Amino acid sequence: MRLCSKLAALLKKSRFLPFAAASAAVSSTSAAASAATMQDSAASTPLRTKVCVIGSGPAGHTAAIYAARAELKPILFEGFLANDIAAGGQLTTTTDVENFPGFPDGILGLELTDRFRLQSQKVGTNILTETVSSVDFSTKPFRILSDSTLVLADSVIVATGAVARRLKFPGSETFWNRGISACAVCDGAAPIFRNRPIVVIGGGDSAMEEANFLTKYGSKVYIVHRRDAFRASKIMQKRALENPKIEVVWNSEVVEAYGEGGTGPLAGVKVKNVVTGDVLDIKASGLFFAIGHEPATKFLAGQLELDADGYVVTKPGSTHTSVKGVFAAGDVQDKKYRQAITAAGSGLHFRINGLFNCKSSREFKLVDVPDNINPKFMLFSCVW
Ligand SMILES: Cc1cc2nc3c(=O)[nH]c(=O)nc-3n(C[C@H](O)[C@H](O)[C@H](O)COP(=O)(O)OP(=O)(O)OC[C@H]3O[C@@H](n4cnc5c(N)ncnc54)[C@H](O)[C@@H]3O)c2cc1C
Repeated sequence: MRLCSKLAALLKKSRFLPFAAASAAVSSTSAAASAATMQDSAASTPLRTKVCVIGSGPAGHTAAIYAARAELKPILFEGFLANDIAAGGQLTTTTDVENFPGFPDGILGLELTDRFRLQSQKVGTNILTETVSSVDFSTKPFRILSDSTLVLADSVIVATGAVARRLKFPGSETFWNRGISACAVCDGAAPIFRNRPIVVIGGGDSAMEEANFLTKYGSKVYIVHRRDAFRASKIMQKRALENPKIEVVWNSEVVEAYGEGGTGPLAGVKVKNVVTGDVLDIKASGLFFAIGHEPATKFLAGQLELDADGYVVTKPGSTHTSVKGVFAAGDVQDKKYRQAITAAGSGLHFRINGLFNCKSSREFKLVDVPDNINPKFMLFSCVW
């Protein structure tokens, strides 16, 4: 404990401490507007907390579990069909998860997310089944508002994830998870795709990467692209075009997916040439959407720095955002790894990046950890 106070004092003196004051990207006009909206809407008594988590995937629940175990009594908004996805996040849209450690026989996505929730609740997280509609990060405590609840929080973790874009055509829902997926890294190695033809839809870097990746498993990979040129970087295009197992179907879009005996699993797709109108029948066991992701950040506009694609900008290697005391974890700030385990890992980063000043084992105060302090050292010198 003494060591802890020393470190806390050191933190106070640190020249790095004002780092997050760089909230320049925040638009004061929209912050003021959203504050006014909140005052109007805050009919009921606000809930007060040290830590508010927005989002209910692996990142959100990991952050909540660590915060709850530190007796910070977190409030977590899990969303109510936020972005048309059930509380629990993207894993609720898939069947078997076979790459999350601890489940040698795999586990259903829904069951895994139920377990995250159960564990979070068990350690003391207060879970609200509501979607956050606006936030005000311009003053402290921060204000987080859903349709019916206003939460005032000393710190916020944004873990609202992203949604993989999908296309709609006859069969796209029927064969979802029965041959159709939006995550090659997650599902590509499944036995149903082994040594069988696979179709990838897209023309950007992700489509090139996923197509190349899938050639490890499929007998052949067709990239269906609606234009006559890719928008992927030259190097990524080159890799795909030079791969002997990849064939490109230009100027075309998938118009139907069908299954064996009509009901599945997926047996093939009909692909229409948008120039000639010809329809090609491709026999395939897999269809992967690789047309990008949409981060769930609309409610943050003007409050946090977002990049051109709408992802929350975090300081490299950390979960710090443009506003001190607001952290972002998981897919909402990660375009690269996009996996449950990496999302969960970044949920823990919050605990390290925004560590706690241990005055006593019962009283914690959130502080930002400067870069010149080894956060692990801090972590172990606190009483849990
Ligand atoms: C089809 C598919 C299969 C996948 N399979 C695997 C796999 O096998 N293994 C693997 O490791 N990864 C897999 N992934 C990737 C994995 O699901 C994600 O990387 C991971 O779920 C990201 O976690 P997250 O916590 O960042 O956010 P998400 O899982 O996206 O969860 C965030 C959730 O927060 C809630 N939310 C959003 N907005 C709000 C709001 N305004 N207010 C309140 N709540 C809100 C919603 O419920 C939202 O879904 C798969 C993804 C997909 C799409």
